[in-house]
Amino acid sequence: MNEKQLRAWAHTTPLEARFWSKVKIIDDDDSCWEFDGAHHPDGYGQFQWTPPGETKRRAVNASRVALYLATGKMPTIACHNCDNPPCCRPSHLYDGTHKTNGADKAARGRAPGKSNQRGEANDSATLTDAIVTEARRLGHQGVQQTAIAQQLGIERATLSYAITGKTWSHLNEVAPPVAPNRGGSKLTDDDVRTIRAEVAAGVPQKDLAARFNTSRATISNIVKRKVRGNVS
Ligand SMILES: [Zn+2]
Repeated sequence: MNEKQLRAWAHTTPLEARFWSKVKIIDDDDSCWEFDGAHHPDGYGQFQWTPPGETKRRAVNASRVALYLATGKMPTIACHNCDNPPCCRPSHLYDGTHKTNGADKAARGRAPGKSNQRGEANDSATLTDAIVTEARRLGHQGVQQTAIAQQLGIERATLSYAITGKTWSHLNEVAPPVAPNRGGSKLTDDDVRTIRAEVAAGVPQKDLAARFNTSRATISNIVKRKVRGNVS
């Protein structure tokens, strides 16, 4: 099922119809297609489904399901080119499961292409460049490490070292988040209140992203209370 068919709502199976009916499909070439159903607090969509090879229905990361429906292969992790966790647009996603992704990215000049025995070049590693990069992105967005570990299916301790740069320090596409694991966020509660108040007053979200040195997606998630919902 390609994007052209999706944009025309030409679903062929009940699963496709059920999944894509929960996605805000926009008929253009570049907009994010955000999941409109249940969300994890970190912003990822949650789709109730029994994945291939499993027997129990459970909440699955919607971006992974989107990639599965688009490619026929179930990725361990769906990484976002657009840094927007709820996005399910297939062309904004790539499979972070396999080493070839790191190679592809290096070829496109988006990641260091050095061959060495660190990170993915070491066969004993359970993480991939793509997983670490996605984990650090989530860290920048204020997502707690426990939630990231759960989201990506990686043991928390292993992931923690990678996120904070104790390991995978050679990977510099996304720098390790500042002040890691201190409640999982570098924005204070007052920052969060300021952001919500200013957006309500009409300040553009991209301006706030620049001022608070964070991503536009983070600002959006804060405003929509997909993250930091505990701050009143
Ligand atoms: Zn997107």
